[in-house]
Amino acid sequence: MGDSVDVLVVGAGLAGLETARRLGRVGLDVALVDRKADPGAGVHTTGIFVRKSLEDFEFPAQALGPPIRRVDLLAPGGRSVSLRSDRDEFRVGRMADLYRLRLADVRQIGVRWWPNHTWISGRADGDGTRVTLAARGTIREVTARMVIGADGARSAVAEFLGLDRNRTWIVGIEEVWQGVPLEGEPRFWCWIDPVHAPGYLAWAVHDGQELHFGTGGYQDRFDPGASLAVIRDRVHGVLDLGRGVRVERRGGLIPVGGVLGRIASPRGLLVGDAAGAPSPLTAGGLDPCLRLAALASDVVARYLGTRSLVELARYDGRRFRARFVSRLLMRRLFGALRSPAAVDLAFRLLATGAGRRFAQHVFFGRGSFPDVGAPLTVRDRVPAAALVSGGIRDPV
Ligand SMILES: Cc1cc2nc3c(=O)[nH]c(=O)nc-3n(C[C@H](O)[C@H](O)[C@H](O)COP(=O)(O)OP(=O)(O)OC[C@H]3O[C@@H](n4cnc5c(N)ncnc54)[C@H](O)[C@@H]3O)c2cc1C
Repeated sequence: MGDSVDVLVVGAGLAGLETARRLGRVGLDVALVDRKADPGAGVHTTGIFVRKSLEDFEFPAQALGPPIRRVDLLAPGGRSVSLRSDRDEFRVGRMADLYRLRLADVRQIGVRWWPNHTWISGRADGDGTRVTLAARGTIREVTARMVIGADGARSAVAEFLGLDRNRTWIVGIEEVWQGVPLEGEPRFWCWIDPVHAPGYLAWAVHDGQELHFGTGGYQDRFDPGASLAVIRDRVHGVLDLGRGVRVERRGGLIPVGGVLGRIASPRGLLVGDAAGAPSPLTAGGLDPCLRLAALASDVVARYLGTRSLVELARYDGRRFRARFVSRLLMRRLFGALRSPAAVDLAFRLLATGAGRRFAQHVFFGRGSFPDVGAPLTVRDRVPAAALVSGGIRDPV
């Protein structure tokens, strides 16, 4: 026989936890599964939250580091541009704590938590899906009216649902240090470096308590481990690593192709990295995780109540992709910065008034992800119509 639930959420990262929490709060019978025993183990993100998230979502105070207002952009050749905001712009999440606290909330609401459960496969079962999970050498079957793929950048649930899948990635790798002294205010350093962070950035962020530094870039254009060693030396040039201790190393893939088009079907939908949510420009994925989770849970709750495809149409990625055009263009330009001379030119432009305003907009603006909760506009209704002609497909 096996269990039966309204919604099965696969993956207890930020996206899955937030979606399960919201669905549980509206009274649905929800199970949250993860292949890990503990969502706080094996964290793969730096955990920098932007002001937009801090303003719009609630976080447990103990799961966030002190605020950061200053950003220094640096070129390998020595050029630099400093940006300072009069507001708290970033806070580094204590992600293991945040995931564990969120899980405690979720369980308290009544969501069933099944750790050590790996999604294996699903098959159509009436209106729902019969899901097979592997749990410590045994098989568990559960029937779900809807399945949520919150299983990260290489989503197996996306494949089962016949939805779009990520194709463009950067790889990120970083270290977390404690005990490194910081003189002055909390700071965020970013190196634009086509050799050691090809197509992205190398970063260091010290909030007065924790130091994180790392690098990211297109996988086929660098050796992440070797480049991280170079960045470590660079960080050692501005901070005394000799007085601190490395406590963690993290890494993973970040999809940067922009939110995917087809992310919903009548059997389920995708959230977070599985939906390609990170910003193509900044690769920030945490704010998009929260925003898509909020919309997804609203759509699922209404859809289960009505079975109306019009509800699902609100969760069509093509609605949001149209607003990503400039970010995707910037990603191409960023990816094309391959020589030190091009970076030098970029820094000359950044040092101008317009360049500085642009950088302020990227780092301090509220533009990380479109306002997905906004009502459908006339423009948005075009993809909604497409679902009638197969835009939202029923998987086999
Ligand atoms: C090095 C690095 C640094 C980053 N830094 C930042 C940053 O500072 N700020 C920012 O905004 N973004 C950052 N990002 C991006 C951001 O971390 C991600 O966008 C975000 O964490 C994705 O969350 P998620 O819940 O969608 O996926 P994940 O966190 O990947 O969670 C997926 C979950 O699904 C589980 N899972 C996977 N497959 C299965 C399966 N078959 N069965 C059961 N469970 C499964 C996994 O165990 C995992 O717990 C960074 C990414 C990387 C790699």
